[in-house]
Amino acid sequence: MSEKVIVSKFGGSSMADLTAMKRSAQISADQKANIVVVSAVYGVTNLLIDASKAACSDTWENTLKVISQIEQKHYSILEEMKADTTVFEDVRSLLSEVRTLTQGMNLLKECSPRAYDSLLSLGERLSSTIFTQVCKEIFSGPEVKFFDIRTVMKTSDDFGKAIPNIALISKLSEKHLNDCKNGSVVYITQGFIGSTEDSMTTVLGRGGSDYSAALIAEGIKADILQIWTDVAGIATTDPRLVPEAKLLDEITYSEAAELATFGAKILHPTTLTPALRANVQVFVGSSYEPEKNGTWIKTKTESSPLIRAMAKRDDQIIMTLSTPKMLHSHGFLFEIFKVFNEHKISIDSITTSEISVALTLDDSNRLNKKLIDQLSSLCDVKIEENLTLVSLIGNEINHTPKLAQRIFQSIDDINVRMICLGASKHNFCFLVAKDQATECIKRLHREFIK
Ligand code: ASP
Ligand code: MG
Repeated sequence: MSEKVIVSKFGGSSMADLTAMKRSAQISADQKANIVVVSAVYGVTNLLIDASKAACSDTWENTLKVISQIEQKHYSILEEMKADTTVFEDVRSLLSEVRTLTQGMNLLKECSPRAYDSLLSLGERLSSTIFTQVCKEIFSGPEVKFFDIRTVMKTSDDFGKAIPNIALISKLSEKHLNDCKNGSVVYITQGFIGSTEDSMTTVLGRGGSDYSAALIAEGIKADILQIWTDVAGIATTDPRLVPEAKLLDEITYSEAAELATFGAKILHPTTLTPALRANVQVFVGSSYEPEKNGTWIKTKTESSPLIRAMAKRDDQIIMTLSTPKMLHSHGFLFEIFKVFNEHKISIDSITTSEISVALTLDDSNRLNKKLIDQLSSLCDVKIEENLTLVSLIGNEINHTPKLAQRIFQSIDDINVRMICLGASKHNFCFLVAKDQATECIKRLHREFIK
């Protein structure tokens, strides 16, 4: 039987400098990765965004200050590795694209969605170009090849957050990437970026490299997807909140997906959908300490604790919509959701009473006046901000007596603003004031995990 097919993904901190790149290349070689997917060099996507902002609102001189930071980051890696002239030339030409695009934005004082995606894509195109060279020096077996993922990562034209065309990606992966499976070649490629069918560059949304890697793993029917990051796996909670937090050896897809959606920063929430669909086992480990166990995400785990982990998600809004028209009538929720749908805003949790509905939304949706006006024509709208969603993730949560009692007894002096229970056996979540959320997590961790 041939060896397992592995897709390894390295995030920005694993691409931060030459040392980090060498370490990541070594891990890829040791693991016998078949495809390696990388993020931009640490901080570069943010700098590219800053450059686009400066270009649209500031002088060319000030825009150049941001651009030179981007240039500096890449040139300093090249200088340290004493790269040969071809790599230098490739990097120089990508960096000149950064200048050309921002110069265009600066002249027009405008950044179109297309231009924005093309600009952002340069982060990953640059890092993967350099990383390919680093891998060439470290891999001894297979031939290391650079691959432009835009050839297979076909998406919609929703620039900024393009939607992947799964069927087409699978078909094209099969066509272009299949030869990595026999171990004779390893492809180094970009996360986060894709292209429309007519070859316009797109991006999958911030933090999208995990998702890219999962889509590629699905596309080539890989056995394992490794997500290498700066922490040694998924923990019972964020160790910055609770120092006693423990690393988990294993977690199910459903639990991990809830955890990612409800605030744990370790995996992009969309990552697990393709992995689950294609039955790819997911591993999360630290590229700084690859010898540590890491966490395996699986369909079935050995243990199924009542509460396995917990997380918080800040910047939540509760919107309460009330109208007596709701009494004994139908279609009201439909009317409301139609409005949110029109504005492409996703609603996280819902509770209802006789004549009102309370919804939670992420503050990042930046509620606009038009949305509020539209809703106000249907009902009274009340908005509360600065809330945090606290979630407990585990098993049989909605079938376990006394669980709510244990939860609320441990935080009995804290006001709970809204509770959601029942939709999933893996999740119990509630909203509290932002400044009380960390205290909630501390006490709940002590109660359920120790
Ligand atoms: N570089 C992109 C970002 O910072 C994608 C990623 O790192 O996953 O959002
Ligand atoms: Mg990242």
